[in-house]
Amino acid sequence: MRLAALTLFHIRLPLQQPFATSRGVLSAREAILLRLQGEGLEAWGECSAGSVPGYTPETLVAAWDWYQALARRWLGQVLPHPADFIAAQAEALRRQPMAVAGWEMALWDAWGQVHGQSLAALLGARRPKVTAGVVMGVKPSHAALCAQAQAYLRQGYRRLKIKIKPGYDVQPVAALRACLPAGFPLQVDANGAYTSVQADELLRLDAFSLQMIEQPFSSTDWEAHRALQARLDTPLCLDEGFQTPAQAAAALQAGVCRAINVKPARLGGLTMALEVVRVAKACCPQALLWVGGMLETGLGRAASLALAALDAFALPPDISASARYYPQDVITVPFCLDAQGALTVPSAPGLGVRVDWDNLQRFTLRKLEFRA
Ligand code: MG
Repeated sequence: MRLAALTLFHIRLPLQQPFATSRGVLSAREAILLRLQGEGLEAWGECSAGSVPGYTPETLVAAWDWYQALARRWLGQVLPHPADFIAAQAEALRRQPMAVAGWEMALWDAWGQVHGQSLAALLGARRPKVTAGVVMGVKPSHAALCAQAQAYLRQGYRRLKIKIKPGYDVQPVAALRACLPAGFPLQVDANGAYTSVQADELLRLDAFSLQMIEQPFSSTDWEAHRALQARLDTPLCLDEGFQTPAQAAAALQAGVCRAINVKPARLGGLTMALEVVRVAKACCPQALLWVGGMLETGLGRAASLALAALDAFALPPDISASARYYPQDVITVPFCLDAQGALTVPSAPGLGVRVDWDNLQRFTLRKLEFRA
């Protein structure tokens, strides 16, 4: 596709309910949506960077500037295959992987539409449906936690994850184990809130048959993870704690973790996510791989779902129905759970979803357009 126009949309999408993690409370999600147009087609990407540094140092402001540079570079040119684009982005991948991921997602959408193939098919995914997982933020009481968990079960979710932090770990997990069906798949995520001196508190979580404990320590503290994993039956999972495919393999080989959260936005996009899967499976066939989320809109959700449909991902992803996070999404047909608690992987060419213009315009803070 020859790029005739690029439009950037900085959006702010209100959340269904405030989302609390060990890092703070979020009441709306900002993102940049980018639209590439050419040859009668339009392709979409999403940048999930934060409005301020937090989960990672990257911000939407930096991505907004970088996309303007990409517009100058690519307007009037034939867009490359996403993997070829990524091969030339070594520095940007280090500096702003979420911005890279947003542009690369639009390239996949364009490539799929030009060649009449769904994104899932392009990635090599075969499963038509993916069992959904749901994440719960920190709740004010155990009663509220259990009520919310049971509501999600009634909606059909088959795996729960809760955010934990020091002082909010063993007790909420015990409360959930008491109110959920025996053996219900449950995992926890600390977003690096613990230090190694608090390792004994995390050891107590071994009694609850959790699927995994995600990123208990700082992203740079591999040694604390390795030491805890050696004492723990529950698999530890790295999320923020690795950035590249080589680091994922090194962490698994060194016993730093047994599970890897493959989050395309954080890794620089789908090409890099595929590479993480390839190297992790090559070095450690037993590694538990699964797809994480960044509270994506329906556009990013469609891309993540296509990835999560790969056979390599044995565990449910952090991909929920649109309504879990957003009362109104930017796509015309929101993602909904079926009777088995699964989401249907889009099968139309490219991302396979369409933008709801009324909603997009309602939630756009600023817009910038470039034409060849
Ligand atoms: Mg995480």
